[in-house]
Amino acid sequence: MTLRFRLSERPSFIAGQFATIGIVVDGEMLERPYSIVSSPHEPFLEFFIELVPEGRITPKLWELKLGSAVFVRRRMVGQLTLNTAVTHHLMLATVTGIAPFVSILRTQRIERERGATTNHQFLVLHGASQSADFGSYRSELEELSRAGWLTYIPTVSRPWAEPSWKGETGRVEDIVRKYADQLGFDCCNSAAYACGHPQMVTNVKAIFERARFNRDQIKEEKYFSIDAVNQTLTNTSMLKRTAEVSGIA
Ligand SMILES: Cc1cc2nc3c(=O)[nH]c(=O)nc-3n(C[C@H](O)[C@H](O)[C@H](O)COP(=O)(O)OP(=O)(O)OC[C@H]3O[C@@H](n4cnc5c(N)ncnc54)[C@H](O)[C@@H]3O)c2cc1C
Repeated sequence: MTLRFRLSERPSFIAGQFATIGIVVDGEMLERPYSIVSSPHEPFLEFFIELVPEGRITPKLWELKLGSAVFVRRRMVGQLTLNTAVTHHLMLATVTGIAPFVSILRTQRIERERGATTNHQFLVLHGASQSADFGSYRSELEELSRAGWLTYIPTVSRPWAEPSWKGETGRVEDIVRKYADQLGFDCCNSAAYACGHPQMVTNVKAIFERARFNRDQIKEEKYFSIDAVNQTLTNTSMLKRTAEVSGIA
């Protein structure tokens, strides 16, 4: 689900970071981190959230209506931001893990439209079991890739369940070397980023390390790391503000 929130004050964050959303369930405040899809240049906060049927927060988020309010921690953090020391950016995502990369790419688009000169090139591989899981971001990124500075490859891992799918098939980790080699993204010119399913992140990190990327050239965010979630909540400011739903898709 894509959720868009209007905030009581303009958010301050760097493209690629995440916010912490809180809702009250049975009298208890529950909070979870969510990568921000929108650009800091946009006047709203957008999130791309996968339903975890047995989860505590996501079924409640599914019940939100236009105008419902949630809490959002004032401090937005995270290190999956653009590494400006290099010109090439190899971004790998599963399903909702595309969120921080969309924020970075929207920011690039807006800044280029405003006249910024930049030579950053992006290769984004987006994996899901079926194409419906790409949400609206597949068409957004396909559209953006026409400008020439982005190559976007959506790939489905269960093509047999979707005979009409004509695009790339297999998991992100199966196709990353093929596209990186073809398009000249290597350890000399690139930063690598991996976000989403923890197994994908672990697998691609091993692939990058074999391709001679240094540890500091690789940024990652594992969405299911509960330890990391708890650590984030402990470290983040307790100040809260409300945000009102202004769009659902
Ligand atoms: C930095 C960071 C950014 C994140 N950004 C996003 C985002 O942009 N979009 C998004 O959808 N999620 C994101 N997550 C995951 C999110 O914070 C929650 O963990 C997730 O939405 C589940 O919350 P819940 O309360 O419904 O489930 P919980 O009650 O917390 O968990 C229930 C069980 O489901 C498992 N689980 C959690 N997430 C998933 C999943 N996606 N698939 C399968 N099992 C899962 C948990 O490990 C646990 O065992 C992010 C996590 C981190 C650490």
